[in-house]
Amino acid sequence: QWIFLSGQFVKKEEAVVSVYDHGFLYGDGVFEGIRAYDGNIFKLEEHLQRLYESARSILLEVPYTKEELTQIIVETIRKNQLEDAYIRVVVSRGSGNLGLDPSNCSQPRLVVIAEALALFPKELYERGLRVGSVASRRNRPDVLNPQIKSLNYLNNILVKLEANQAGVDEALMLNDQGYVTEGSADNVFIIKNGTIFTPPVYLGALEGITRNAIIDLAKEAGYTVKETPFTRHDVYVADEVFLTGTAVEVIAVVEVDGRKIDDGRPGKITNQLLKEFRKVVANDGVK
Ligand code: PLP
Repeated sequence: QWIFLSGQFVKKEEAVVSVYDHGFLYGDGVFEGIRAYDGNIFKLEEHLQRLYESARSILLEVPYTKEELTQIIVETIRKNQLEDAYIRVVVSRGSGNLGLDPSNCSQPRLVVIAEALALFPKELYERGLRVGSVASRRNRPDVLNPQIKSLNYLNNILVKLEANQAGVDEALMLNDQGYVTEGSADNVFIIKNGTIFTPPVYLGALEGITRNAIIDLAKEAGYTVKETPFTRHDVYVADEVFLTGTAVEVIAVVEVDGRKIDDGRPGKITNQLLKEFRKVVANDGVK
């Protein structure tokens, strides 16, 4: 397996980064997770846009143009002979000294990893996820904006740890007012009486690229989609609940905080949207 690291392709075993890299010391950097289906990179432009915006927000310069980075990603997939892949793009502040001041870092570091996908087991899609809301809150947009996909994912990791301890598959994050925001690394949707709801991102959710694709797909299929704040109660009494994300695609949630969602089985509209999504990703994207 070949990894693109600081300007060249190196073997996986040799792909190591300095302990002085501020990505490691301080979580100072940004990243993206991208998928390729059958050789097509899904929504590459949107992912690159978000990467460059995350970087701009933290005053980090991506050391390549979007065109160059596209070539590097395509080459990483090709070199590893992958068709279906999960691609991780990381830009760290680079190596510096032990002080946290980024001006001590010589140059940003780019890493691109492409791997054959470890898809979630098929049974999970058929069974649906058990999810729990957790005590940790989503960080407020005025503190560290969730739109910045930074290497500092502690907020999300704490939430995942709580979910693990509670013995559920995934966590639901609330904001400091108790509104539902998103999962640990996925967006959340609920369906009630045929209308589809997802939290507005200003509540404290990443504006997921899969989320936006699903909103478009659902509207095309004739559904009304509303970006409206909702609480755990609305989730408990929803007809259907599902999560979206680059890694999970579209996955049903069948239980939240011990409450069965409807009959406790993946919903019809959720399954329909997953099917539509799989159709789109098979025919879309950058070769
Ligand atoms: N929310 C968070 C916190 C994430 O890290 C991710 C994953 O990127 C998502 C939601 C889903 O976003 P996307 O569909 O762009 O992968």
